[in-house]
Amino acid sequence: MSDQYFSLRMRAERDGEHCGGGERIATPAALAALAAELVARAVDRSGGLPDAVHCTIERLRGEIPCGRLPDLRTWLAADWRDGRRVARSLLLRAGVAGVAADAALAGLAAGAAPGGRVMRGAMIVDAATGARLEPDAARGVRVSRMDLAPAARPAILAALAAAGLGHQRVVEALVLAGKVLAAPALVAELCWSDEPGYLPGYVADPVHGYQRIVPLKAVGDGRGGRALFVRRSAYRADAFIDFLERQPLLFETLGAIRAPESWRD
Ligand code: AMP
Repeated sequence: MSDQYFSLRMRAERDGEHCGGGERIATPAALAALAAELVARAVDRSGGLPDAVHCTIERLRGEIPCGRLPDLRTWLAADWRDGRRVARSLLLRAGVAGVAADAALAGLAAGAAPGGRVMRGAMIVDAATGARLEPDAARGVRVSRMDLAPAARPAILAALAAAGLGHQRVVEALVLAGKVLAAPALVAELCWSDEPGYLPGYVADPVHGYQRIVPLKAVGDGRGGRALFVRRSAYRADAFIDFLERQPLLFETLGAIRAPESWRD
């Protein structure tokens, strides 16, 4: 892809806590409208108005690699507690140790930033021990500079919508997970939203792809976050964080989509 692209990044905060964000890659022609859309999103959340909205627009230089989105499946849970059990099972299947899965699940549920607050980005977790590895426990690592390739966007959105998965949050999380799964030393990702009304979450791993779990949290819960599990022997902090935060990546192909099913241990 040519270098006629800009990265747009938005993050909103309230009471010093993360309360929304967005990551896009846009052509110059689409830039102004997309920036307005991200700002509108920041002030339009069910949890109340933000205190600050930070927007960064930056030219991307050089060729941008293109990839394929992860395969997508949906696991139906009886309630959010059952959803957490499903998430734990999927993490173990991906190669995360029980102690590490439990530590991350408990950390996200309690608020993984100091003082039990919601982190602005993701925690990095040793998949064998559960030790936290991110340099800043409030900021975490921000997965940035990724999007659907503009030319492929309409067809990908139409295919997701036809499968009942056209929700903007699904699209954005699928793209974010696609970049996470391409990171070196990555074992799995766990996520649920801090948006009180949005209950699904997911576990992603390189073999099974992006696996939604519905629901993964209780109605009205404003705690959420992301945990990136890494293989410590292959993990290099600089390379891992540089890839996720700085290296642009576009997705031009959709993975396979499976019909929703129930998880059985
Ligand atoms: P969201 O799905 O936007 O509600 O985000 C859920 C949680 O994931 C947030 O509370 C943050 O802790 C974390 N998060 C949001 N955006 C990013 C990002 N771009 N990179 C890493 N973590 C993020």
